[in-house]
Amino acid sequence: MTDTLIKVDLTQSPTANENIHNRWHPDIPMAVWVKPGDDFILETFDWTGGFIKNNDSADDVRDIDLTTVHYLSGPVGVKGAEPGDLLIVDLLDIGAKPDSLWGFNGFFSKKNGGGFLTDHFPQAQKSIWDIEGLYTRSRHVPGVSFAGLIHPGLIGCLPDQKMLDMWNKRESEFVATDPKRVPPLCADNNPVTAHLGKATGAAKAKAAAECARTVPPREHGGNCDIKDLSRGSKIYFPVYVDGAGLSVGDLHFSQGDGEITFCGAIEMAGWVHMRVSLLKGGMAKYGIKNPIFKPSPITPTYNDYLIFEGISVDEYGKQHYLDVHVAYRQACLNAIEYLKKFGYSGAQAHSILGTAPVQGHISGVVDIPNACATLWLPTQIFDFDINPCAAGPTKFLDGSIDMPLSPDLV
Ligand code: ZN
Repeated sequence: MTDTLIKVDLTQSPTANENIHNRWHPDIPMAVWVKPGDDFILETFDWTGGFIKNNDSADDVRDIDLTTVHYLSGPVGVKGAEPGDLLIVDLLDIGAKPDSLWGFNGFFSKKNGGGFLTDHFPQAQKSIWDIEGLYTRSRHVPGVSFAGLIHPGLIGCLPDQKMLDMWNKRESEFVATDPKRVPPLCADNNPVTAHLGKATGAAKAKAAAECARTVPPREHGGNCDIKDLSRGSKIYFPVYVDGAGLSVGDLHFSQGDGEITFCGAIEMAGWVHMRVSLLKGGMAKYGIKNPIFKPSPITPTYNDYLIFEGISVDEYGKQHYLDVHVAYRQACLNAIEYLKKFGYSGAQAHSILGTAPVQGHISGVVDIPNACATLWLPTQIFDFDINPCAAGPTKFLDGSIDMPLSPDLV
């Protein structure tokens, strides 16, 4: 039987679990050790450690202390792993915990986290998604259901001290360019909410003072939020410290490309069954700086799409130079406007784009001055026909059901 090396109790605080951490630092002690070739299971909290509840209020999304996240399971030490190696991780399977067959999606308040479309959705909102085997459906977003492409939003190895110092330098210099920005340019750090697994005493204090937040993806992978990094994938991670120190968390039942809703995809607690092995000296052999991976052989077979185009002219009419962020935002806003014609609120449409297996593509980056991005919306996930027709859209929803919204506190 495959051993479950890290267990989580969803009724307990993640900070009571010494196999959990919420920062990156090379001195976080290995939670467990394995050998190359071993397969094992790690259980994980959802990324907020259970703060977001299965209810009909978005107050938790509004009020969350975002310096507490992400709660990761690990680090797993791999015997024989040395800096310069590639750690090969086979994601053999991923699932929800049987006592927690639901997930959440939402948008943070602009004053606490913000997000990709925060100017259009500035207040906290939430939708709950029930997990029924392969499928999911939400009581807050009717008329849509789909098969999950389950994946870890966050997985990567510990940085060494040199890489950590580089991260801290470049990010603090970036924040200094606009320190008062709301939302901030980089996630705030707070030594008080740093949870560093088995670290204790002076080592813990040093790590808490120096550690990096888990929010951005970086050279080691980390919070990449790649929906296609799903069960069946094989990932090659750069190794920076002896033992590699692999950690995983932020499981998503499903996510659209870009995780545009930021809080976040369909976020869930769960488990990951994986196998690890080593490719000695692989970083130099293959010129690897960031992880590479092979996709899963299993993906939902939605093959009919309505595709929305966006260009790098923003919603206020301003021209941007080949900016794919602006272009993708326009593609998303165009899809939201379209879905509203069927009776969805803007929030519900936004939530669909953040949760369903929506594809985002960078279509053109050379035709000055406009980049072109496309958003591929699968038509088969809807309970009704969303294709354009001469008769115009039929309203399938009457507006009586919407996502909970929590106004900002004054
Ligand atoms: Zn997530």
